[in-house]
Amino acid sequence: MRIFYTIIIIIGIVTLIISSVTIYQIYKFDETRIIFLDIGQGDSALITEGDYQILIDGGSDGKILQEKLSKYMPFWDRTIDVVIATHLDNDHVSGLVDVIKNYKIHKFWYSNIEKNTTTARALKANIDEFNVQTHEPVFGDKIIFPSGANFQVIYPIIRNEAYNNLKDLNATSIAGIFEINNEKFFLGGDLPFEIEDRLDVGNDITVLKAGHHGSRTSTSQLFLDKIKPRDVIISTGKNNRYGHPHRDVIKRLIMGRVRIFKTYENGAIIYTCADECEISFD
Ligand SMILES: [Zn+2]
Repeated sequence: MRIFYTIIIIIGIVTLIISSVTIYQIYKFDETRIIFLDIGQGDSALITEGDYQILIDGGSDGKILQEKLSKYMPFWDRTIDVVIATHLDNDHVSGLVDVIKNYKIHKFWYSNIEKNTTTARALKANIDEFNVQTHEPVFGDKIIFPSGANFQVIYPIIRNEAYNNLKDLNATSIAGIFEINNEKFFLGGDLPFEIEDRLDVGNDITVLKAGHHGSRTSTSQLFLDKIKPRDVIISTGKNNRYGHPHRDVIKRLIMGRVRIFKTYENGAIIYTCADECEISFD
């Protein structure tokens, strides 16, 4: 009899723990969060709202990326609604190769250009093997979150535009704006300033992810004057071999009095959005 009661009590305690964890997770993951992941060299941003996610780029290491995804996605959720690979550089897509294997991806957005690198081949092989639906986005394509927040593509402007830029892979980057309650986040992969400068981005960007990891090939004075960001995110690895970010860019940002956040100093940079977006670090 005593054993019977002990078992009942243990089952009771376990049920209580599981339900509290679940309730906590449901509560915690219900808000909309834009997370610039700290994945070392490269770019990766997760936008998550309940069990709806889009992942923009995956950094250069699949193991690190998946650790971060399991940290910021609900534990029961193994699907990502849309993955966007801005372009086929290793520090944007290497991490995605494993994610295709281990998560169900509803849609994979990328410019399917010819690129004969090991990573690009592995990525395309996995897309085929796991039957992932692909889409080549252009200006105006939109992803709408359950809350009404949305991500809208603003580059490439016409289909095949990326294909004309093959000499510079960065220029094939897909760029877009995530908008929630009038706050706008611009993510443009590694687009060079020649393209950034002529984009129709509007003049009220709240958060700019600096193009090409803060390299001087992006984020011109002209662009900054035009879009007037409040915050700038620099996503790159510590002591990376490319010398990102470039001091000219940092100088420009300081002169412009924007708030600068760097993944290699701040860790993950998280905007949690209810009526307004609040920043925190992890
Ligand atoms: Zn890059």
